[in-house]
Amino acid sequence: MTTFRALQTRQTDDGFINEMVDRNVGELGNSGVLVRVEWSSLNFKDALSATGNKGVTRHFPHTPGIDAVGVVEAADDGPFSVGDRVTCTGYDLGMNTDGGYGQYIRVPSEWLVPLPAGLAPRDAMVFGTAGLTAALCVESLLDTGLQLQQGEVVVTGATGGVGSVAVAILAKLGFEVVAVTGKKDAHDWLKALGATRIISREEMLEGADKPMMKPRWAAAVDCVGGDMLTAALKSVEYGGSVACCGLAGSPKLEMTVFPFILRGINLLGVDSVELPCEIKQQMWQLLADEWRPDDMRALEAGEVSPDQLSPWFEKILAGGVRGRVVVRVD
Ligand code: NDP
Repeated sequence: MTTFRALQTRQTDDGFINEMVDRNVGELGNSGVLVRVEWSSLNFKDALSATGNKGVTRHFPHTPGIDAVGVVEAADDGPFSVGDRVTCTGYDLGMNTDGGYGQYIRVPSEWLVPLPAGLAPRDAMVFGTAGLTAALCVESLLDTGLQLQQGEVVVTGATGGVGSVAVAILAKLGFEVVAVTGKKDAHDWLKALGATRIISREEMLEGADKPMMKPRWAAAVDCVGGDMLTAALKSVEYGGSVACCGLAGSPKLEMTVFPFILRGINLLGVDSVELPCEIKQQMWQLLADEWRPDDMRALEAGEVSPDQLSPWFEKILAGGVRGRVVVRVD
């Protein structure tokens, strides 16, 4: 029976710890598709799982990693054959199903998407769930009929994984992008990704104590929730939309209905986890082709192996990561 290395999160008397362990492929069960993982990535949710957040992972010990790309090694059903290169993001991967921080995963074939031609496995994980979510946010805004000439699109949590890819995609599509960040030293980096201008969190929140704010944006992508989401909803132009995908600041939404009933604002909920695989496949295709940022390397915060992840969990939970961390697994 094949053994493999995996990061494992374990509960101890002193709290949750992460350590590398030897595991056996048999421990992953025997139904579904066995994938030898090459690359994974770091997302906010991975850090929640790896620090014992029971809203993400109920049972420990557990191997986190909500993203994986790799090669099919055994398939007992479905459309995949040995040797196919596939991505797996979301569903239960890395939550209560052992995830991409181990050298093998075993998942239902419905969770897998063939890696688009022309997209390197490593680049797929530079995007990862964050990139997929950014693409879904942009797609949801375009579905409302958003046009370039309508004006600026604002992105909150802009240096984070979702935010930075959203900035890069919107810029690639020709939008004027305003990036909201709390990181004073990241302005040049955000401009290099394609942001037209940068504002501070405080500037975004100016006047947010009122039921409505001066209309400023054609649309918004919000990764932060709480005050930042309400500020976005109160300051998009008449008929505009806000794609809401995250809670890095707060899960709360406290406001009146005025922006909805007086300005016809749309709040677009975005979920990358449970949505049908066919839509994930369409998003991956866009990321591989027309929406692919010209400089993929600019999105990267670093490359680590699973045993080097622990400090990054703390860092991402504190909002301190700029861009995307790629995890080399094989
Ligand atoms: P990151 O930690 O990489 O990015 C979040 C960013 O938000 C930070 O870098 C920071 O950006 C900003 N931020 C953090 N804390 C605060 C705060 N208190 N107030 C204001 N801004 C803050 O996370 P991800 O990009 O990976 O994920 C972003 C959010 O989206 C998370 O809540 C995550 O759970 C969610 N998510 C949801 C998905 C879905 O399917 N709906 C899928 C993927 C992620 P800056 O310093 O630039 O201001």
